[in-house]
Amino acid sequence: MSAELIDGKSFAAGLRARVAEHVPAFQKVTGRVPGLAVVLVGEDPASAVYVRSKGKATREAGMESFEHRPAANVSQAELLALVDTLNADPAVDGILVQLPLPNHLDAQEVLLRIDPDKDVDGFHPVNAGRLVTGLPGFVPCTPLGCLMLLEDRLGDLSGLDAVVVGRSNIVGKPMAALLTAKSCTVTIAHSRTRNLPHYLRHADIVVAAVGIDHFVQGDWLKPGATVIDVGINRVDGKLTGDVDFDSAASVAGAITPVPGGVGPMTIACLLRNTLVAAHRREGVPLDERAI
Ligand code: NDP
Repeated sequence: MSAELIDGKSFAAGLRARVAEHVPAFQKVTGRVPGLAVVLVGEDPASAVYVRSKGKATREAGMESFEHRPAANVSQAELLALVDTLNADPAVDGILVQLPLPNHLDAQEVLLRIDPDKDVDGFHPVNAGRLVTGLPGFVPCTPLGCLMLLEDRLGDLSGLDAVVVGRSNIVGKPMAALLTAKSCTVTIAHSRTRNLPHYLRHADIVVAAVGIDHFVQGDWLKPGATVIDVGINRVDGKLTGDVDFDSAASVAGAITPVPGGVGPMTIACLLRNTLVAAHRREGVPLDERAI
């Protein structure tokens, strides 16, 4: 292996500490701490694990965590009413509805109901629109975390060639928009892309968000490339990424491991977005770029 490891775990710990440092000053001005409401419908065990760790991280940052756990048979109307209540609650700065929802519920309608200014997941179309038009909004946590790791490693990204493999609304598309805003030349690849290695061979930055374990091969990469592996795949009880780590690490200049790369950044960015939402809602000044 010649690539340097990008330590997302340690970067995320630093980000969480920076978020926590801002909470007392916010509390001094407003008389309350920032609050994040998480809605988990039903008993899906994987989602329950995510929700528990989000709640724990929120409390560890000194913020308030509100957990709502409607039963799996909750109606669409009841769920929308819960979102309305959270939208109106002044103690709630961020609202997150854990996906996936049970099949009888319309996730799109639920996400559309969240006040865009409390949409700390950045999934509302208003925030997607703000991102591509360069307006302040909320950026989905996973691509935001990837961007932070890239800038930490590479500094100014201007002019670099980037390939984002995957075009989902929660990772690929916002990632491509963020890199475009940083003046990278961006290619978005997907399942219909012909000859993916051709594009990857020219890429200074590769972000893999495909959902297929060990998909991106080392001999597809440009030597020295920076590789961000978003993938979380469970294979034989172990977590693996979307990049074939061993072959990629012998060609890349730097690479994120799985686990310990992008994963910890997602929750840290959720806390960051909640802190930002709280400051914006209360009109308390915050240097958002310094967090
Ligand atoms: P989706 O399934 O929504 O999207 C996968 C994308 O990969 C699609 O755009 C698809 O193309 C593309 N794709 C599929 N097969 C190929 C192929 N053979 N060649 C090129 N592109 C292909 O996944 P997500 O974006 O939600 O997640 C991607 C990965 O990231 C998953 O492993 C997920 O677990 C992980 N993840 C990790 C997070 C974290 O916190 N670290 C958070 C969110 C996701 P098409 O559009 O044509 O179908």
